[in-house]
Amino acid sequence: MMLNQGLEYSTAYLLLGGNLGDRVANLEKAIELLNDKIGKVIAVSSLYETAAWGKTDQPAFLNQAVALQTNLSALAVLDLALSIEQELGRVRKDKWGERLIDIDIILFGDQIINIPDRLQVPHPHMKHRKFVMEPLAEIAPQVLHPVLGETMLSICRNISDPLEVKKL
Ligand code: ATP
Ligand code: CA
Ligand code: CA
Repeated sequence: MMLNQGLEYSTAYLLLGGNLGDRVANLEKAIELLNDKIGKVIAVSSLYETAAWGKTDQPAFLNQAVALQTNLSALAVLDLALSIEQELGRVRKDKWGERLIDIDIILFGDQIINIPDRLQVPHPHMKHRKFVMEPLAEIAPQVLHPVLGETMLSICRNISDPLEVKKL
């Protein structure tokens, strides 16, 4: 049997966000590093601004969704994403606290991954967060959620998150 490993890749959707420093520059640098280290960036959404979620006494976030093609595993992508956060100077403080850059894996092909305390894909909170679903629905409207069997656009339209998300 012919093996064509190495020619195979997954399309991953990531959500980037940050609310400290030069938010636009941090997103740009993160995308450059993702493209260098993880795989070819094939789509990026507009920028979306949202008041902080979960912990509200902090500056507003800018979020952006990114699609990339990678032949790495989801765990390898996670580790590289965490290292890019470090490289850009993220310091972990409180959960949901302010940060220079956050990189979350939202979808990884149609894989369903549940490694407690390490990696859950699809991202467990995506369907409750407008700041995730608006940018994602912009670049992947017809992509299906592998568990819910619903498109990104449909999930986005049915969200009841009260936080206003402003497309810039
Ligand atoms: P939330 O997941 O609610 O958006 P957060 O992004 O603020 O929270 P972090 O402190 O950035 O949480 O990440 C904590 C840990 O979450 C990471 O070290 C990572 O191991 C784990 N994690 C689990 N699933 C994912 C995922 N899909 N994408 C990124 N990190 C994940
Ligand atoms: Ca996050
Ligand atoms: Ca994160």
